Amino acid sequence: MNRRYMRFEETAGVVLPDAADPSHTYLLYLHIPFCEVLCPFCPFHRVEFQADRTQRYFRRLRDEIRRVTASGYRFGELYVGGGTPTVLPEELAETIELVRSLHPVAQVSVETNPDDLADERLGMLRQAGVNRLSVGVQSFDDTLLREMQRYDKFGSGAIIRERIAAVSNVFDTLNVDMIFNFPHQDSGSVERDLQILTEQLSVDQVSWYPLMTARSTDRSMEKSLGKVNLSPEHGFYRQIAGAMTVAGYRRSSAWCFSRAAGMIDEYITGHEQYVGLGSGAFSYIDGTLYASTFSINHYLRVAGGMSPMRCRRMGQRDQMRYYLLMFLFSGALDIEQAETRFAGRFARGLWPELTLLRLLRAVRRRGNRFELTERGYYLWVMMMREFFIGVNNFRDEMRHSIRNELRPQQEP
Ligand code: SF4
Repeated sequence: MNRRYMRFEETAGVVLPDAADPSHTYLLYLHIPFCEVLCPFCPFHRVEFQADRTQRYFRRLRDEIRRVTASGYRFGELYVGGGTPTVLPEELAETIELVRSLHPVAQVSVETNPDDLADERLGMLRQAGVNRLSVGVQSFDDTLLREMQRYDKFGSGAIIRERIAAVSNVFDTLNVDMIFNFPHQDSGSVERDLQILTEQLSVDQVSWYPLMTARSTDRSMEKSLGKVNLSPEHGFYRQIAGAMTVAGYRRSSAWCFSRAAGMIDEYITGHEQYVGLGSGAFSYIDGTLYASTFSINHYLRVAGGMSPMRCRRMGQRDQMRYYLLMFLFSGALDIEQAETRFAGRFARGLWPELTLLRLLRAVRRRGNRFELTERGYYLWVMMMREFFIGVNNFRDEMRHSIRNELRPQQEP
């Protein structure tokens, strides 16, 4: 069921509506789809970096930020993902400064890659207000890094470790993204990664993603990494959760482990509504999911306006399921808030799902909260994995439909 949310067939060619409630504060997500190396396992919306095109993209993005501000949106938090947002640090810093000059943004998170950590221009991001830096490492194992085709570009596990150590005190929170359940990964390799992260680097936060597939990357992934097998996934998860807890980390989501409370992980967790700008970004506003054009040419051509989007209006039941999925991903859901949000219909409307989750001993009620049990945490890893596979497959469809999307624009 979780793969279903990303069906957008209903309406195409729409733009984001004006803010219905100008006093509401949203999270703003910006997508920077450029990378210097395209990793074979990566299902995200990303293309090869070209300096000119990337500069034009940032300029267009800033136009769109001004435009969405004029239509009444207020932002309290900013998350910049990709791709590799730090491919042009000056442009990124200017964009962040623009958002901060227009909105009372308290938290700014940026994703990056290990080779950009050595760039002295990274300091300008701190000055621009970035509090949280998230580095995509995936593994410190040189054999796996070679299979991922990241070794030549980003260096060995030892080099990456040194670069992370050098920036460990620059930002309020340093997050490291890791992946588990690679076909040739074994528990010894995961154990070494855990030691590096928790003992040698002692990073603030680690997000351990299960390996996720997409139809478009299945073949290249199998060729370079091997055939994906889901059966060891649970064992790896138990190993990771156990070691991270012993090392003093707490779960801030089913797959994110933090040293301190209150750190954020996925921007969609804990933010029911968010606005996504840039090519291939998603927004969720008032029960409608929006996806902006995946064609970068198309995105660049719409000067001065909002980028064209597709959308899907969710029924109330789907909205409640989406709410349940996203909020319980963080481990707990406040029942009173959920009932207020859905006019007292939340627990009644979702009684089959909630009963099933209780019978599975995945969710328990404690006071005014639904909480995940240890068993529930892994169930949520699986459900979120399926949700993101649905997102990945949707991205595939969008990439395939780019030609159709461009055709009407090209006609005289
Ligand atoms: S894994 Fe990161 S660097 Fe590699 S292609 Fe995907 S977004 Fe780019």
